[in-house]
Amino acid sequence: MELAYVAIKLATLALVGYWMYSDAKSRDYHPVIWTASALLLGFFGIGVLGPILLGLTMLVYTLKRPKGPFRQCPHCRKPPLDSLANCPRCNGILKQDCYRCFTVVDVTMERCPSCNAKL
Ligand SMILES: [Zn+2]
Ligand SMILES: [Zn+2]
Repeated sequence: MELAYVAIKLATLALVGYWMYSDAKSRDYHPVIWTASALLLGFFGIGVLGPILLGLTMLVYTLKRPKGPFRQCPHCRKPPLDSLANCPRCNGILKQDCYRCFTVVDVTMERCPSCNAKL
């Protein structure tokens, strides 16, 4: 194998690994398992098989990952998925139950949007 080929392969794997890990982490969607499988398939795939398997893993991942809007975590400023109750990066609480009507409310809100109780 040529040195340039190996360098490009490793650089691609590093980029994909970094992207996939932080994306899966923000969605709380098995970041280690997804990143490890993509990198292992991409690394041990021989010849063109490596890039193909890597591409396929990325495709399956983008189709299967939990979707939805992102928000800014009030604790660590990272952008986790809006539907999560806890920040997957700092474990900070993102949602709370309204003590009066038990609606799930964003932790940064001062009043419950459904019953207007002060939180
Ligand atoms: Zn956080
Ligand atoms: Zn309420």
